[in-house]
Amino acid sequence: MFRLVCVRCAKAYPPDEIIYHCTRCGHLLAVEYDLDAVTITRSAWEKRPLSVWRYRELLPVSVSPVTLNEGGTPLYHLTRIGEELGLPFLYAKHEGMNPTGSFKDRGMTVGVSMAIQLKKSSVACASTGNTSASLAAYAARAGIPAVVLLPAGKVALGKVAQALMHGAKVLSIRGNFDRALEMVHELCLTHGLYLLNSVNPFRLEGQKTIGFEAIDQLGEVPDRIVLPVGNAGNISAVYKGCVELEKLGFLERMPMMTGIQAEGSMPVVRAIREGLAEVEPEPHPETVATAIRIGAPVNAEKALAAIRKTGGTAESVTDDEILAMQRMLAQNEGIGVEPASAASVAGVKKLVENGSIDKDEKIVCVVTGHLLKDPETVIRQCASPLEIDADLPSLLSALQSSS
Ligand SMILES: *Cc1c(COP(=O)(O)O)cnc(C)c1O
Ligand SMILES: [Zn+2]
Repeated sequence: MFRLVCVRCAKAYPPDEIIYHCTRCGHLLAVEYDLDAVTITRSAWEKRPLSVWRYRELLPVSVSPVTLNEGGTPLYHLTRIGEELGLPFLYAKHEGMNPTGSFKDRGMTVGVSMAIQLKKSSVACASTGNTSASLAAYAARAGIPAVVLLPAGKVALGKVAQALMHGAKVLSIRGNFDRALEMVHELCLTHGLYLLNSVNPFRLEGQKTIGFEAIDQLGEVPDRIVLPVGNAGNISAVYKGCVELEKLGFLERMPMMTGIQAEGSMPVVRAIREGLAEVEPEPHPETVATAIRIGAPVNAEKALAAIRKTGGTAESVTDDEILAMQRMLAQNEGIGVEPASAASVAGVKKLVENGSIDKDEKIVCVVTGHLLKDPETVIRQCASPLEIDADLPSLLSALQSSS
């Protein structure tokens, strides 16, 4: 049982109304449950497999879900990086281990299930890449068509490959992500497609389960949860989930929500640093971490509240810091992530170095997408394989000279 409620003016809408913004004030909507009617216990949850659907009492879906077995991703203890930073309790939740290789699957299993529940017959999104890969796969699973709009030339190769192979109608627009989102929004409002960007409140419901799982895996609430921030949907979602757990009496304290952005695309960081009530959009966002190359984050209002209400913070990292941490995760921990994902751990490094993090904190970094999403950025950083003659002496001499 739920309703949709405006995050600004609290106007409420029925669960079956197809609406993305408040008709009174234009702000975003959020799903609100009747938590008094939720009777699930933590121990009952823990008997179910770790997945998005473990938490179905706190999800809006009543039809049979459109699922590819999302969630249940590993939580890794970062022993070597932790040692280097002096953080004994540093963890990474590897969301790249979802069916299409990013956390977007958590949102899409719920979002596409809701499209079916609301009897919509086609879906659409604008995307920096992962949303389109995920939507294409879940639309294929549901047997309905999908349209995706990408900023031309700014989407990592693996993500485009997925969207194409899963059969979405893929369009590259000559403009950035923020413009693609405006266009797809208008298309959906005028032509009846169901919009599955993170303005869609149901996607965030699926994404909040990252936090639920991390708490269950750690066996306690982490002191801090660190996420890379693009549209700011994910950090808002994880916070919303924690608020619900707290209201249910399942949470002894709130984790400090901490958002990391790339230096060339950091409107949320600026707003936190300068104490602004709203973010000022960045007109020309630029970063190697294309998944967070977003100048006008649609969920910024929710994210600022999440950070401020939990005593968290926001920090920026350079592209070099992002890529250095991508290599460190890959080479020192065996964890392969795409650049945007490495931003969360790179941000922790920076926050430790400037004294903003207490060393005994239990910290969960959400690493959001898989290494294979962006092979081109990987190849640019690494030396090509050495080509040698097919005999043992050549092999031995190559091993000697490269060691
Ligand atoms: C979408 C995405 C992000 C940003 O998440 P937001 O909810 O837009 O803040 C970060 N990393 C990866 C890999 C993503 O796909
Ligand atoms: Zn409103």
